[in-house]
Amino acid sequence: ANATRRYDAACLRHLQIGAPPVRFGRYHRCMFSYRHAFHAGNHADVLKHIVLIATLRHLMRKDGPLTLVDTHAGAGIYRLDDGAAQASGEALAGIARIQQLAQPKDSGKKVAPAQAGKAKAAIDNIADDLSDYLDLVASFNASAPAGSAWRTYPGSPFIIHALMTEPERAAVRDRLKLFELHPTDIHSLQAHVAQLEAGRQISTARQDGFEAMKALLPPPLAPGGSRRAMVLIDPSYEIKTDYAKVAAAVQDGLQRFPTGVYLIWYPIIPRPEAHGLPRRLKTLAQQAKRPWLNATLHVGASAQETGLSASGMFVINPPHTLKAGLDAALPQVLDALAVDHGRGQAWAVEAG
Ligand code: SAM
Repeated sequence: ANATRRYDAACLRHLQIGAPPVRFGRYHRCMFSYRHAFHAGNHADVLKHIVLIATLRHLMRKDGPLTLVDTHAGAGIYRLDDGAAQASGEALAGIARIQQLAQPKDSGKKVAPAQAGKAKAAIDNIADDLSDYLDLVASFNASAPAGSAWRTYPGSPFIIHALMTEPERAAVRDRLKLFELHPTDIHSLQAHVAQLEAGRQISTARQDGFEAMKALLPPPLAPGGSRRAMVLIDPSYEIKTDYAKVAAAVQDGLQRFPTGVYLIWYPIIPRPEAHGLPRRLKTLAQQAKRPWLNATLHVGASAQETGLSASGMFVINPPHTLKAGLDAALPQVLDALAVDHGRGQAWAVEAG
């Protein structure tokens, strides 16, 4: 029920900005209601992007070039001080609190009360995977005055691009393939990507990411003789068939390219398809005899709040270092993001 209200609120916001409603049964009323700009930097992005960075860092320790696929790319990069982010307030309860962990204790600056929320004190022993995430988001805010709230949040395309162009990796020339269906977001994505001047290293297409994935796997043979790919599948689950499409895409991906690394984000909400997805992914990994990891973060549901309070990242063929890294990082993340007096706060990393 909470999730339904949340999506309805998103639909209403969407209607306010003039987009046509499309009816899709009882639950999802509006096909293009989802705009990631409202959600950028929320707790789900924090979990997703920590796992993404930790996974990519490990993959990039090897020299062979990677084919990197982001099936649901969004707009690429977001302003946290614009109307969408301010209207939802989700980044204030997400990345703004995480930012506090990294504030120098002696900066002498105070965050504005509205931004402080339940700000946590800076901590000295930030876990490596969390610290890496913080440093990367900070690098997009390098020109912000010390101690001020971050105004820019990189989405998955810009996070991946930042890692593939770091000085020690740039010469490898990984390839990034981005897909996005929303008419406004594909336009923003293409404009943002153009500014990177990445040439043929990045491609964008207004195409169904589930379908597009098929043509990219297995990835091309690299000069050293290796085939390497990572696929991020991060739908908005606006339409309930997305759950089945994710499972079908992963099953097909594992048949085409069993050694690929697949990262799947999913919401933890009270609907059968959402509960069933991680179970189905585990079965698919086991049938393909591939290792898997499932990381979940519940920031706690408050009595009044109707938003998403928990999500998960399922990884097939995870780096062997990922579990230990997340075991160290997620308690710190939860400590920073847990909703005051919220119910059901928890983190977990299961692997098999
Ligand atoms: N991966 C992005 C990030 O981490 O910054 C966020 C992506 S957002 C959760 C999901 C995006 O998928 C939305 O922008 C939505 O418009 C888009 N989308 C929905 N269905 C799609 C499909 N079948 N193929 C490609 N994009 C789709």
